[in-house]
Amino acid sequence: MEILLVGAGLSGAVIGRRLAEAGHRCRIIDARDHVGGNCFTERDADTGVMVHVYGPHIFHTDDAEVWEYVNGFSDFMPFQNRVKSTTQGAVYSLPVNLLTINQFFGKTMRPDEARAFIAAQADTSIADPQNFEEQALRLVGPALYEAFFKGYTEKQWGCSPTELPASILKRLPLRFNYDDNYFFHRFQGMPTDGYTPMIAAILDHPNITVELGTAYAPDMAGAADHVFWSGPLDGFFGYDLGRLGYRTLDFERFTHDGDYQGCAVMNYGDRDVPWTRITEHKHFSPWESPPGSVCYREYSRACGPDDIPYYPIRLVEEKALLGDYVARAEKTRGVTFVGRLGTYRYLDMDVTIREALDTADLFLDRAAGGGDM
Ligand code: UDP
Repeated sequence: MEILLVGAGLSGAVIGRRLAEAGHRCRIIDARDHVGGNCFTERDADTGVMVHVYGPHIFHTDDAEVWEYVNGFSDFMPFQNRVKSTTQGAVYSLPVNLLTINQFFGKTMRPDEARAFIAAQADTSIADPQNFEEQALRLVGPALYEAFFKGYTEKQWGCSPTELPASILKRLPLRFNYDDNYFFHRFQGMPTDGYTPMIAAILDHPNITVELGTAYAPDMAGAADHVFWSGPLDGFFGYDLGRLGYRTLDFERFTHDGDYQGCAVMNYGDRDVPWTRITEHKHFSPWESPPGSVCYREYSRACGPDDIPYYPIRLVEEKALLGDYVARAEKTRGVTFVGRLGTYRYLDMDVTIREALDTADLFLDRAAGGGDM
């Protein structure tokens, strides 16, 4: 079959590879002039630092098959994400752990004591948290919420935490030990030469052609037996029901001699600091030691029509619009909507790959059985 895949990010590359290996011809187009979507990395021309151009990407998963898959296309170096937060005039360890709690409250509590201490602060009258704020107050109580979550979340999402789903906070653990590894997954690492060569290797198959700088035009679909769409879900339909909300990011790049902040990611919890975090990219490749440094100050704002969409907002009142688009997508024969933008979900890389592999396998099964696609 002739397959058209719109988007040369992780979803398009992984699905394209699987179908190409099964003998289908895959044409992958991308409007950008590079592969990899927002995972794109490149070496900074001035400093030689490997830069995560669209913000930090740390590979972590519990899925052994996904881990094996990515290791088939790149060497990985061990990497653990240890994030710090500057808030209320001090630097703390994230995610909120025993060190954070003891330093923040000026105490020397052991795990059980800290657990009881936090339980006494937490608002247990909230039985079933309906939004981000309720979830946070129930989990950590007002003092930690104010310091670490409220301001950061208002900056990141541009709205009150009461308007956000509780699920966003569920991404972050609360630990009563000194484990400051941001992720709690068996497999974690960083592709040795960045994500771009890894994704280029996935795309490197005789049945795959990649056309960069090529925007999708509806007449392209006619030449294909099936389309995989990893662009914005609402974009496929010309935004005719309205736009799904996204946050975009602005990165203010600056260089520094030596080491600027001593870690890869420093979050800023205070509302009056306009950026959400500063990333120092050399620390994402700790096995390299370039003398110079490149940092990004990261600012979040509402995504306009010409901006790059990063985070789907999924506000409670947007659910209806999303439901309408999803219903239309399901009815659209010959097109499968995939990935973060195509399904309008906040997906980590490992989940994106898992879903891409499953989507490709389902497609191949149906194709073999002559089923409806
Ligand atoms: N968050 C926060 N304070 C922090 C870090 C995260 O309040 O210091 C909240 C914020 O709302 C964020 C969410 O937790 O959007 C998920 O954080 P994560 O670090 O997973 O965000 P990502 O790295 O995907 O931007």
